Amino acid sequence: MMQTTKHGWVEVITGVMFSGKSEELIRRARRALIAGRRVQLFKSILDDRYGGQFRISSHDGRQIDAEPISHSKQIEEKVLVDSEVVAIDEAQFLDDGICEVVQALADAGKRVILVGTDMDFRGRPFGPMGSLLARADEIDKLNAICVVCGDPATRNQRLIDGKPAPADAPVIFVGGSESYEARCRSCHDVPVTNST
Ligand code: ADP
Ligand code: ZN
Repeated sequence: MMQTTKHGWVEVITGVMFSGKSEELIRRARRALIAGRRVQLFKSILDDRYGGQFRISSHDGRQIDAEPISHSKQIEEKVLVDSEVVAIDEAQFLDDGICEVVQALADAGKRVILVGTDMDFRGRPFGPMGSLLARADEIDKLNAICVVCGDPATRNQRLIDGKPAPADAPVIFVGGSESYEARCRSCHDVPVTNST
């Protein structure tokens, strides 16, 4: 968490929804700005909740400006040569090319902060997150609180009309507390369907 190296570095903040990933990203980005570092923040254009496409927002209302991107190549194009810190939120929605882009940024001496939920609502690796975690120099996996039993929550429970979503529901569905809950392994509920 205390990144002091002057060389390139990749850190991942991951975990279930509501676990405080965005809060932690905003905290790290603000500290880098206080340190006088040149910081660029990006987020997947798919997340237009809360503060909209141009802000990274946490569930408790904290916000910071960010550039929306729909493809990993756009990050490569938009990163300025003299940027020292590059932060990317909602990385689970990005294409697999993000792995190469991140490697190249770190090889160029930049500190890269990646944020994303590591499991989809079925409990499987979400998008490029598994590969990003394998390539990271440092990982922080955060827990939320299970809304059913109060234990540490590590799973994303998707709800449709208040009921657990079936396993064959689409992986990407952007929503907030009306569609998702943080739950522990034992309270997590994904009904199996014929197609799974
Ligand atoms: P993430 O980016 O991981 O979705 P945020 O940083 O946006 O998380 O929000 C974390 C905040 O969400 C917590 O500080 C707390 O105020 C709130 N919160 C709401 N529901 C929960 C929950 N079930 N467990 C923990 N925090 C929760
Ligand atoms: Zn539970």
